[in-house]
Amino acid sequence: VTYSHASAPLVVTGVDAAFDALRARGLRVSAARRLVLEVLFAAEEPVSADQIAAGLRGRVPASDLASVYRNLERLEELGLVRHLHFGHGPGVYAIVGRGDGEYLVCEWCGSRRAVEPGGLEDIRGRLRALFDWEARFSHFPIVGLCPSCAGRADERGRGGSHAHT
Ligand SMILES: [Zn+2]
Ligand SMILES: [Zn+2]
Repeated sequence: VTYSHASAPLVVTGVDAAFDALRARGLRVSAARRLVLEVLFAAEEPVSADQIAAGLRGRVPASDLASVYRNLERLEELGLVRHLHFGHGPGVYAIVGRGDGEYLVCEWCGSRRAVEPGGLEDIRGRLRALFDWEARFSHFPIVGLCPSCAGRADERGRGGSHAHT
């Protein structure tokens, strides 16, 4: 799977506006494309291509995985869709401008927390000042330990290593 990263965002208000945006660019609103967009708009959080192909547990018709990937790629090129990585697995996809919050991810239990827009500005500013680096956490979240895993880490004593399995 190749991921594109360079598209200008194309923010739409809903699934019908997304179809209009496709047509305005001379693209067909095929059944497969319609399905991918419907799943992404119906999803409460970013979803994997597998989940999209499976039809989000029956809420939309199932589709084949190869066509889902092709369409995600195309929609990402258009700037309608973006992807991020919660862990080692494949990327997960979301509609641009919807749930764009950045995430904190726990590397022990996999739990995650969405950060409200602007919630990481202080940290970004600090990194800019220290390293002249424009940090972005929208593609790869900030990885660390959630409060409950950090609590367990404390019990075990700080500095202990955790096996990477
Ligand atoms: Zn990526
Ligand atoms: Zn955790």
